[in-house]
Amino acid sequence: MSQKQSLETICIQGGWQPKNGEPRILPIYQSTTFKYETSEQMGRLFDLEENGYFYTRLSNPTNDAVADKICKLEGGAAAMLTSSGQAANMYAILNICSEGDHIVCAATIYGGTSNLFTVTLKRFGIQCTLVDPDASEEELDKAFTPNTKAVFGETIANPALVVLDIEKFARLAHSHQVPLIIDNTFATPINCRPFEWGADIVTHSTTKYMDGHAMTVGGCIVDSGNFDWEACAQKYPGLTTPDNSYHGVTYTKKFGKGAYITKATAQLMRDMGSIQAPQNAFLLNIGLETLHLRVPRHCENALAVAQFLQSRGDVAWVKYPGLKGDRYYDLAQKYLPHGSCGVISFGLKGGRKAASEFMDKLKLAAIVTHVADARTCVLHPASHTHRQLSDEQLVEAGVDPSMIRLSVGIEQIDDILTDLKQALN
Ligand SMILES: *Cc1c(COP(=O)(O)O)cnc(C)c1O
Repeated sequence: MSQKQSLETICIQGGWQPKNGEPRILPIYQSTTFKYETSEQMGRLFDLEENGYFYTRLSNPTNDAVADKICKLEGGAAAMLTSSGQAANMYAILNICSEGDHIVCAATIYGGTSNLFTVTLKRFGIQCTLVDPDASEEELDKAFTPNTKAVFGETIANPALVVLDIEKFARLAHSHQVPLIIDNTFATPINCRPFEWGADIVTHSTTKYMDGHAMTVGGCIVDSGNFDWEACAQKYPGLTTPDNSYHGVTYTKKFGKGAYITKATAQLMRDMGSIQAPQNAFLLNIGLETLHLRVPRHCENALAVAQFLQSRGDVAWVKYPGLKGDRYYDLAQKYLPHGSCGVISFGLKGGRKAASEFMDKLKLAAIVTHVADARTCVLHPASHTHRQLSDEQLVEAGVDPSMIRLSVGIEQIDDILTDLKQALN
């Protein structure tokens, strides 16, 4: 299919392209392994001399069809699925960093990613400098070292709802000849395509809006194919010099725009195996088929809820990038003109105590740890994810003790507002 398609059509038809007589619906290749006629044929696969499947720990046709759909949605060159968003971000970094290397990362990113980068990757010998995403370019420039190999940020930070100035971060990264990696989970390609703003690699927790129904944990990495690894070959020897574990293949020479994803599949998946189960990829694909319908509805409902909360005397503050007057409204208008996401945060005048009382009274909105699925749900970070911290420590961590994180679903808006109203009253 060479004709250029709209995102809506890619959501439904992208990825699986059945040939004559093949199943119309993406099949689940529920098989660990794949059969070959000759030993020689299988050998060529192991040498990366031929494309094909041999073991599902590395790759599987169901996964690849879904990765291809996400790749087209982002406008990328190559993509792979991973078992979770955490695995996607870990592989995105480990594919180009090793002991002694350094990354620059927006401080407001998701707590899980921040732990991965500043605690676990540190044990691997990779250092991470967290930076204020709103700092000036001169200020941000100071975070770079000669060993910096990547810059990382989230289009819309979870749960801080900070909108990243992607162009600013791309300029900085490229002035130091390193790629910009963007976690596009909250925006999804329906609302923002980071490659169009200069990002080089995009990651996703597909667990959120892409799946959209809270069914499966998963992740994805998409490479734009735009970063010129060869131009700074000495920085990225893993991509630009022979890989002895594959008979001396040099990824950039042999795979061109597919180099980064091929290396991540052939090396990291082979050795660490954080593959998405084909069953989960099948479910993710069903979620993707309605992404273009669900995301605008999430945004429309969230804006109505944010405006409603802002009008209430018992609400102390509301954060939502789509709300006029929000600190990130202008950046959201630039990068997310059609809507930001369904997640908002707000605080009640009664603080921490009022927050838990309010949540206990909700009937339609459920208290869960998840965000970004079809059902409205709610979490109080001070009582849940950040429970061990005192009020003073919470403020230091950037979490207001009164903060309620509300993930607005796609139910009928009046029903959502009625539920919030009765709980507030
Ligand atoms: C949830 C989330 C992750 C982690 O994804 P999992 O699928 O839970 O591993 C990473 N980044 C962002 C922005 C997220 O919201």
